[in-house]
Amino acid sequence: MTIYAKNRLLNECRWSSSREATFLECRKKYWYTYYGAWEGWPKTSFDSRSEVDPLASYLYMLKNMQPACMFVGSVVHKTIEWCLKTYEATKRLPTLEEVRIHVQNGVKKGIQESSQKMWKNHPKHHTNLLEHYYNLPFDSSPLEEKARSCVDNWYSSACLQKIALNKRAAWKGIESMQTFSLEEGVEAIVVYDFFLIWHARQDDSFMIIFDWKTGQESEKVETQLLAYAIAAKICFSVPLDKLILSPFYLSQGPQGYKKYGAKQEMPIDSTKIEELKKSIVSSAKAMLELHPRKNAEGIFPTPTSLQFPYTEDRRHCKKCSFQELCQATNYQEKEKEELGNLVKEKFASCMR
Ligand code: SF4
Repeated sequence: MTIYAKNRLLNECRWSSSREATFLECRKKYWYTYYGAWEGWPKTSFDSRSEVDPLASYLYMLKNMQPACMFVGSVVHKTIEWCLKTYEATKRLPTLEEVRIHVQNGVKKGIQESSQKMWKNHPKHHTNLLEHYYNLPFDSSPLEEKARSCVDNWYSSACLQKIALNKRAAWKGIESMQTFSLEEGVEAIVVYDFFLIWHARQDDSFMIIFDWKTGQESEKVETQLLAYAIAAKICFSVPLDKLILSPFYLSQGPQGYKKYGAKQEMPIDSTKIEELKKSIVSSAKAMLELHPRKNAEGIFPTPTSLQFPYTEDRRHCKKCSFQELCQATNYQEKEKEELGNLVKEKFASCMR
């Protein structure tokens, strides 16, 4: 994060798979997420804003809302992160029972925060479930069961017991963000869930990057993994023949992980990597074209720009957290000031 004058954060535009997915799904959602919601977080004692803009505050709240499936995924990720960091700090691995308690408490706490609307105090620090907010059918027991089975499978897997805890493994990072540049002015970000260097026999070594998945296998995963490989080469000079990528589909059981790359049955396709590099550069440039220059802080594109239309594929709207605002505008273009007035008139009760 870069801070510019008067203790304000600089709104930077870097490629990430989630930013690109929003850009492709709906440009209005992209504007709400990356421009409209900017500086909508609660005021802190060290920032120089005189007040928080109500439209930004409302969009920031909606942006931080999660559907239940994503919520479970984030609780599972946080539990694994906690378990690995505890081991890293103390050399004692929490017991399976402790891990189960951690994940179950995380699910229960999030559901309680959401039902009690605690997110009104701070949308990022308290869970807001899309199902609660939009009064959709919701049953908490499958969530708890899924979270528990994901951590059980992870805990008993060879990934943890035989690789991560092995003397040959040198841990390099947990929930670790990598920023890399593919050409001047084009920056991208990936986050490795967990990665290590595996010291094999005969002085050979490999980087293994793990990716915990609570959802199903999809085509998007391949793009994500190839982006990890690009980052490994640029950030750590790790060539493909020294790299193993391991997505772990946690709900499929302790053997739900796959291995691509060095000495594995499934290689990493170098042609696809070159194609992805080109695609990232082209997608990042398309997003950068709409983004204010680095030294033009505070000047953002307007929501009514032709570049930010509502998606025509309204199937996306059913699971979109911004749906109540789009419905309130009747999917008509509104200037920022009009949106602000609409929010004050209709949604003031959503704010603290
Ligand atoms: S509700 Fe639909 S049109 Fe509105 S931001 Fe979401 S996806 Fe886009």
